Amino acid sequence: MANFELADRVKHLPPYLFAAIDKMKQDAVAKGIDLIDLSIGDPDIPTPDHIVTAMKQAVEKPAHHRYPSYEGMLSYREAVAEWYRQRFNVALDPKTEVLSLIGSKEGIGHIPLAFVNPGDVVLVPSPGYPVYPVGTMFAGGEPYIMPLKEENAFLPDLSSIPSDILKRAKLMFLNYPNNPTSANAPVDFFKHVIEFANKHNIIICHDAAYSEMYYDNNKPKSFLEFEGAKEVGIEFHSLSKTYNMTGWRIGFAVGNKAVISGLGKIKSNLDSGVFQAVQEASIAALKTDDSTLSNIRSIYQERRDAMYEGLKTIGLSLNKPGATFYLWAKVPAAFDSSGFVSHLLEKCGVLGTPGVGFGAPGEGYIRFALTQPVSRIKEAVKRIEKAL
Ligand SMILES: *Cc1c(COP(=O)(O)O)cnc(C)c1O
Repeated sequence: MANFELADRVKHLPPYLFAAIDKMKQDAVAKGIDLIDLSIGDPDIPTPDHIVTAMKQAVEKPAHHRYPSYEGMLSYREAVAEWYRQRFNVALDPKTEVLSLIGSKEGIGHIPLAFVNPGDVVLVPSPGYPVYPVGTMFAGGEPYIMPLKEENAFLPDLSSIPSDILKRAKLMFLNYPNNPTSANAPVDFFKHVIEFANKHNIIICHDAAYSEMYYDNNKPKSFLEFEGAKEVGIEFHSLSKTYNMTGWRIGFAVGNKAVISGLGKIKSNLDSGVFQAVQEASIAALKTDDSTLSNIRSIYQERRDAMYEGLKTIGLSLNKPGATFYLWAKVPAAFDSSGFVSHLLEKCGVLGTPGVGFGAPGEGYIRFALTQPVSRIKEAVKRIEKAL
């Protein structure tokens, strides 16, 4: 019998958070529990019709059945640049400053391979998207955890990073509006980050997956809107959350030419780009009119209001999200985050995500995703109240 041992980088992986939750969920469903699943950040609303229609037409074209270009169709990259100009008033060269991605997760996971040598440090916010530290470790790098604390408005304290770490740091991940805390960054934060990046020669990788998922007409800014940003970094975007396209697997990276080109080198050796029909449908997505998007936003806003007011009323401590579809609530003092998630699942069939799953500094919190209709959200609040 052959004995196939996993590589150390796989053996040393922390258990993938959502796999553990999936297991709990399956067990609950097998027991016949009427589960209200608020655990995963995957929109329940379908992709808008005009995008699906564009896909149907695109898939019929034989030209799209062949290998796509590595960096993405020029027409897709032009549509990205045009979207950026309209939304953020940022000019991008579609030929050198835009790269297609097979979802932004793919680019985030691969960027350390382009710039991080074994032993180099990557500055990683925590709690945060698990791909930042894992991508770092796959490249042989060392994640240095920047805790996001409520008393610092969930911003990293850059001044607390030791100088020996800064000397070894190649890259920093940031994510605003933030998953899981739903915090947004104040304007002076990005200015400070750019100064910091220049001083320490660190590449900034800003994950802007939630830039379009905002409330009260309060539009988040792009990192690239700030002077000097393009000299120090790139921004990752996803069509997943903005257009309810998580299953389509498309995103993009934009910004610093050298960084975009480095990431492109990794990708051209690993993958062969995004199905062109998906790129063509995504051009239609990027041209979506404001009314379609504001309809989607108002659905989330109603849910946010119901869940926020509800949880507040029953005594949980949390901030009202100005963006993202997450609520980040303190767990009651008697529980740790995993204990509270199990308690809610067992007592009332409501599934949240334990804060600790996003990194140790997330301990003490639970994340709820607004991915159920408002009636189910109200029902969830009622059930949680009884379980408390
Ligand atoms: C959902 C999400 C992404 C996007 O993933 P895709 O691969 O584009 O679907 C990226 N970053 C964060 C923080 C997310 O929550």
